[in-house]
Amino acid sequence: MFERHYAVRDGVLVSMASPLLVIHGGAGVERKEMTPADEDAARTALAAALRAGHAQLVAGKPAADAVTAAITVLEDAPQFNAGRGAVFNHDGRNELDAALMDGASGKAGAVAGVHRVKNPILLARTVMEKSRHVMMVGAGAEAFAKEQGVTLVDPKYFRTDKRWQQLQKALRDEAAGVALLDVGRNYFGTVGALALDVQGRLAAGTSTGGMTNKRYGRIGDSPIIGAGTWADDRCAVSGTGWGEFYIRDAAAHEICARVRLSGESIARAARGVINGDIPKAGGDGGAIALASDGSFALPFNTEGMYRGWIGADGEPHVAIYAQDTLRGDQH
Ligand code: ASP
Repeated sequence: MFERHYAVRDGVLVSMASPLLVIHGGAGVERKEMTPADEDAARTALAAALRAGHAQLVAGKPAADAVTAAITVLEDAPQFNAGRGAVFNHDGRNELDAALMDGASGKAGAVAGVHRVKNPILLARTVMEKSRHVMMVGAGAEAFAKEQGVTLVDPKYFRTDKRWQQLQKALRDEAAGVALLDVGRNYFGTVGALALDVQGRLAAGTSTGGMTNKRYGRIGDSPIIGAGTWADDRCAVSGTGWGEFYIRDAAAHEICARVRLSGESIARAARGVINGDIPKAGGDGGAIALASDGSFALPFNTEGMYRGWIGADGEPHVAIYAQDTLRGDQH
């Protein structure tokens, strides 16, 4: 799948990688919760996100632009737990988290616990590019958004009836003493994207509403650099799942550390963490992982994970359930 070709830039022969974009729309998908119309809508949104990100890459834009473009589409799509359609916390509010990391420069930006930022990934990017900081939370992050002209919306914008009903069910289950693991996996759903640009640079981004019925102020793995989001010069990862376990394992960084230090393939490293360490510790979920040689893996240990990729031919490839085959995936 990986191709490298050469181009002359300013009179110099430079090596150009074949651009690649890999995305997920969350690992919490369960067949019994889905109608054929839901599946179609999710596939359409995933394909649109892949096309939007790929357009950036073929225009020669950096990996971070592709990641931001793809995640913006997924945040705007109500099917996924990020931006519009995010899950509700215990208080009936949407509290959003996002992060972006640029593998070439090692720079990162993250926001957590925001209620009014239409596209949290754009604010994460602004934190990375326009501030001296890596992470901003809550009211401070929103003040920064306002100062920087990042679009703010009425919190009602994020609300969908489906997510509201999920919270009501979670509250009933909790009152009845049903354990989280016994009531299904639709507590999570996060979106993420990884890109390899024509110059061989990687970037990773993740955006989420977190987990249904989370307590106010709870922050998951998604905006924590190294837990749910990581990119360096040879490996990029975005996670989705029960965030507490991803934080304790520093899961995204752990996958890339295995690639760098143990020379493991991206598929082996990602599987080792997602299908080994996380379930062993009692958690569940999935991740997407992309290496700078163009190999990638999309492992998960749940019934399904919205996922897809797009490469040189510009054709989006998408899948939902574990049984769906996805050409190119080394899962
Ligand atoms: N990992 C996210 C969190 O714990 C949830 C998800 O993946 O949907 O906040």
